[in-house]
Amino acid sequence: MSVNYDTYLSETAKQIQPSGIRKFFDLASSMKGVISLGVGEPDFITPWSVRETTIASLEGGYTSYTANAGLLELRTEIAAYLKNNFRISYDPNDQIIVTVGASQALDLAFRALLNQGDEVLIVEPAFVSYSSLVSLAGGNPIPLSTNAENGFKVTAEQIEAAITDKTKAILLCSPNNPTGTYLNRDELSEISKVVKKHDLIVVSDEIYAELTYDEEYTSITSLEGMYDRTILINGFSKGFAMTGWRLGFVAAPKELTHVMLKIHQFTTMCAPHMLQHGAIDALQNRETIVEHMKNSYRRRRNYIVQSLNNIGLECHTPGGAFYVFPSIKRTGLTSEQFAEQLLLQEKVAVVPGNVFGESGEGYVRCSYATSLEQLQEAMKRIRRFIESLG
Ligand code: PMP
Repeated sequence: MSVNYDTYLSETAKQIQPSGIRKFFDLASSMKGVISLGVGEPDFITPWSVRETTIASLEGGYTSYTANAGLLELRTEIAAYLKNNFRISYDPNDQIIVTVGASQALDLAFRALLNQGDEVLIVEPAFVSYSSLVSLAGGNPIPLSTNAENGFKVTAEQIEAAITDKTKAILLCSPNNPTGTYLNRDELSEISKVVKKHDLIVVSDEIYAELTYDEEYTSITSLEGMYDRTILINGFSKGFAMTGWRLGFVAAPKELTHVMLKIHQFTTMCAPHMLQHGAIDALQNRETIVEHMKNSYRRRRNYIVQSLNNIGLECHTPGGAFYVFPSIKRTGLTSEQFAEQLLLQEKVAVVPGNVFGESGEGYVRCSYATSLEQLQEAMKRIRRFIESLG
C-alpha cells in the first residue's frame, strides 16, 4: 500500500515556496562557461589567520559542546565589536547568542516573538527567507513595496499606513539584499518614530553592516529609545567571508534573549566549538580583514553601476552589500524571461527580481562579488544581449 504523504505533512510547511534562486543555479550549473552574478556570497576565501586558528582548535581537541549561548570569550568579543564599531552596549553574559548563521538568528527572533496571526512588516524587495520564516513561526508576512524611484527606501508614512492591531514587528535590512539600499541615520530616525509610536519591535538584519561604502554605518539600535525594542542580527558570512562556517549572532534586551536561548538550546544546542575559536580570531583581526575586502567591493560597485547605466539598464548606486538591482523594464521582458534568455543566449546568470517579492518584478539582481575581469566580460555579454533585443 502506498503512503499518501500529503495527509501527514504540516499545512504550513506545505505552503512554503522553495527559493526561486535555486532554479537558476541548477540551470546555470548544468551549463559550461557561465559567468555567475547570481550568488549572494563573497568571492574571497576566509582569511588565513581565521582558518589557522580553527585548525589549531581542532588540533587542541576542542570538539565538545560549548555553552548554549556560545563561548563566553566569543560573546565578549562580539560585545566589544558592537560597542567599538556601532556604539551599542550588550552584556555578553545574558544578551548575546552565537547562532548557526544569521539565518538561525532570524528564525529564533520570529519564533520568540510571534503568535498565530501576528503580522510582521517586511520591506520588499527582500531577502527570500524572511516571509517563509515568519510563516513557519505562525505569523503573517506583510510586504511593504519600494521601488527604484524612491531608491528602494521605505518611508515612515508607508509603515504607518500598513500597521494594524495585529502588527507586532518590522523587519529592516540595511544594507539590503537584493537592492543594496542603505538607510542612513536620518531615515532610520524617521522610521524609529513610527516604531515607538505604535509600540513595535524591530528585527534588524545587519548582516551587511560591514559593507557600506559611502557613509558610516548606523544601527537603528543606537537611536534614541530603540535599544529596548530591537533584536539585532548579524554574523560572519558577508563582512568576514565566512558563509560556509554558518556562524552568526543575535543581540537583544535580556528578556528577549532569554526566550530565544530556550529555543536555541532545544533546537541547536550550540554553534560548533572549533569554529567559534575561528570567529574570535576574525573579530580580533577585523580591521585588516574587512577593510581590504570592502575597498575591493567598492571599486567593483562603481564599475558595475556605471557599466549597466551605459548599457541602458538604469541602476541606482547602492550604498552597501554587494548587489545591484538594475531595471530591465525597457526590454519589455519579465524578470524571469530576462534572466532565462540572458543565461541561455549569453551565459550570464542573474537572479530575476520577482523572487524577492512582487515589487522586484522589472528588475534583476546582479552580485558583484566576482572578479573585475569576470565582471567586465559579463558586461560585454549583457550589452550584446540588450543589442540583440533591438
Ligand atoms: N540576511 C540576509 C539579508 C542575507 O542576504 C543572508 C545571506 N544571503 C542572510 C541573512 C543569511 O546569512 P547567514 O549566512 O549568516 O545565515
